[in-house]
Amino acid sequence: MQTNPVLLVHGGAWAIPDDMLEAHEQGVFDALQAGYSLLERGASAIDAVEAAVARMEDDGTFDAGRGSFLTRDGRVQLDALLMDGATLRAGGVACVERLRNPIKAARLVMDRSPHVYFVGAGAEEFAQSQGMKLIDNSELVTERERERLAAAQAKERAGMPDLTFAGDDKSRETAVDVDAPGFESHDTVGAVALDTQGRIAAGTSTGGTLNKAPGRVGDSSLIGCGCYADNASAAVSLTGWGEPIMKLVLGKWATDRVQQGVSPEQAAPEAIAYLYRRLGGHGGIILLGPDGRYGIAHNTPRMAWGVCTSDGPRTGVQLRQ
Ligand code: ASP
Repeated sequence: MQTNPVLLVHGGAWAIPDDMLEAHEQGVFDALQAGYSLLERGASAIDAVEAAVARMEDDGTFDAGRGSFLTRDGRVQLDALLMDGATLRAGGVACVERLRNPIKAARLVMDRSPHVYFVGAGAEEFAQSQGMKLIDNSELVTERERERLAAAQAKERAGMPDLTFAGDDKSRETAVDVDAPGFESHDTVGAVALDTQGRIAAGTSTGGTLNKAPGRVGDSSLIGCGCYADNASAAVSLTGWGEPIMKLVLGKWATDRVQQGVSPEQAAPEAIAYLYRRLGGHGGIILLGPDGRYGIAHNTPRMAWGVCTSDGPRTGVQLRQ
């Protein structure tokens, strides 16, 4: 029996500034097109997720691939994970500096290595050995991000917290704890898909957090944290303040709720509420069950999201919680 395919994408959850809204919405729309056109032709969920995420890595708007946030020493360091819910196969890379599309390297790790996860130089060497081109890190760095880093570091020197999240407080029910650490912008990208064979998959790709210490790895590329997929439960991709998400293994927490019988529509806001309740964390989630039901939630002022079903694509930069 053929299933109707579904694709969800996100392009980060934070106080996306007004002048970047259009680019975010266009970026998630383009990602939907890239992934859904494959699903319509009968491609696998994992292929669709990879294509959608790669499209957003190529879009300089997001904190993934070129245009990512910079480490405190001005470099781009990327993390990505892909997971196939039908087989539980997974591939991840972290702290890579010389790959344009880390999600493609993650795919190679999944398909062509006996391992699940590579970091740093070893990840780059593996990707190169599988035919990926190594580039200079400067090709991933944009002027916009140099300026953003300089502004964040100036604030840091002045002893001011970064209140990027504290923008439009009316857009959520949950209060923002502006004293909590880690109020950087969160522009990570992710996708979850259901294909015509009923298989689900998930992928997340990020440049991490602004002004991060070199070598820091966040939730995005860690299995069960910023990304997870299991046909016995659901596929999930998260974005937001990575450290609390990791401590709660929040992706797995959300998919476990679905396995326990909670609908993805309900489990998604529950996961974000749990993140805030336990650790004052902020972020966004896309969650998709193998039956095609899905949920999207965030407790940040805005989140770039998109969903495509047989009814066509829908995108937005904000949801009422
Ligand atoms: N979760 C990511 C991290 O902490 C950041 C983001 O979502 O933009 O690395």
